[in-house]
Amino acid sequence: MLLNEYDFDLVIVGAGPAGSSAAFAASNEGVSVALLEKEEAVAETVRTSGVTWIADTKEFGIPESCYNPISNYSFCSPTKSVTISDNKPKAAVLDVRKTYRHLAEQAQNSGAKLFLNTNVTEIATDNNNRPIGVIAKVSESQVKFNAKMVIDCSGFQSVVVKSLGLAEQWSRFGAGAEYEVKVENVQSDTWWLMVGEEYSPAGYAWIFPVSKDTVRIGVGVGKPESDVDPTERLDKLIEEKKGPIKDLGNITKIEFHYGLIPNDGLSRKTVYDNLILVGDSAGQANPLVLEGIRYAIRFGRVAGRTAAEAIKSGDTTQKSLEGYEKIWKKAIESKIKSASKIQSRWIGLTDEEWEKELEVISELSADEFLDFIRADFSVSSIVRLATHHPKLAVRQLFNIVKGS
Ligand SMILES: Cc1cc2nc3c(=O)[nH]c(=O)nc-3n(C[C@H](O)[C@H](O)[C@H](O)COP(=O)(O)OP(=O)(O)OC[C@H]3O[C@@H](n4cnc5c(N)ncnc54)[C@H](O)[C@@H]3O)c2cc1C
Repeated sequence: MLLNEYDFDLVIVGAGPAGSSAAFAASNEGVSVALLEKEEAVAETVRTSGVTWIADTKEFGIPESCYNPISNYSFCSPTKSVTISDNKPKAAVLDVRKTYRHLAEQAQNSGAKLFLNTNVTEIATDNNNRPIGVIAKVSESQVKFNAKMVIDCSGFQSVVVKSLGLAEQWSRFGAGAEYEVKVENVQSDTWWLMVGEEYSPAGYAWIFPVSKDTVRIGVGVGKPESDVDPTERLDKLIEEKKGPIKDLGNITKIEFHYGLIPNDGLSRKTVYDNLILVGDSAGQANPLVLEGIRYAIRFGRVAGRTAAEAIKSGDTTQKSLEGYEKIWKKAIESKIKSASKIQSRWIGLTDEEWEKELEVISELSADEFLDFIRADFSVSSIVRLATHHPKLAVRQLFNIVKGS
């Protein structure tokens, strides 16, 4: 039963980091925005480990109370471990709920209207298959939101673009399972990335500290490369207290997280008439460690501004939205392509090869390591790095990137 109908300039589907950031930017430009979220609260279900970078959090205005700072980066394979220490923290493990709710509040404070418990099930279109609104299920009734434009921020599911028949489900993706746990011993400024067959046959496992007594332990598995179930592997690692997990002492599970993240390169077109895709729905993820929160926020803001300008100009055709795609591609396209090459190599490494890779990684300074893991490499910086590192193996690693 269609109970209600609303009119907005812009409808944004999904109140994750991409959606809230797009809503914030568009509302600041003075257009009316409906931000639709299917869950009963923003970030009710956590689907991410929440690692990001302090410089980005500062730029986005995310308060320090939203994250735990990290300054030691430990990496281990079944036979070797390396720790790269920095003199000041540059990585952050987010309190995901607090951060995502902060972003949604920012959007509301600038005028966006947040509709919770609002599950978008259909896209309203004109005769040319262009979106002109959405239909959502709210409790037992249907609500229609009319709009001049839609932004798809529904994450991996990409509900808008898939409903319109403009994209297929992602074929390559990461599946991750994680427990947030209370433990006896935490080095709260040190993360662990754990690689090799027993941790994950096509991916990695992690320990990310959230506070002085809480960490997230997780396993990510590349699909379709491996059919290992990340939850089963995670339970096994915890039960057997593998590697650095044993140093945590007694483990008490608090919460389980599970999610999927696209890893199909930047294969999707992200602008259509009346439609923009941002965040995971656009495939904007760093394939090296499968992180996308900072891209979702950064390009969410660009998308919101672009949409608002188009709406105000009265022209929401693909052509007037292309500036958004140009901006994000210029910022990350070549980096993601280079990172994909490293990731393809990493996914096939044996335990012995990982041991050698860790030797290479141990040669890096903290800044070099972070640039690397963040996929923040330009060709010139990689050439410079390769020149600074006399060891052949290090140069070869950089040459993979340089060859892009
Ligand atoms: C296991 C795992 C670990 C990860 N770890 C990291 C990490 O450490 N650091 C990092 O930066 N990134 C990480 N990521 C990736 C990161 O979570 C995503 O890149 C990021 O959340 C993308 O933001 P988004 O807003 O595009 O999508 P999402 O965060 O997925 O938000 C989408 C929102 O849309 C809502 N929604 C979906 N369908 C509908 C619908 N039909 N109607 C209304 N609302 C809907 C959802 O409920 C959700 O709130 C990880 C991902 C996984 C799976």
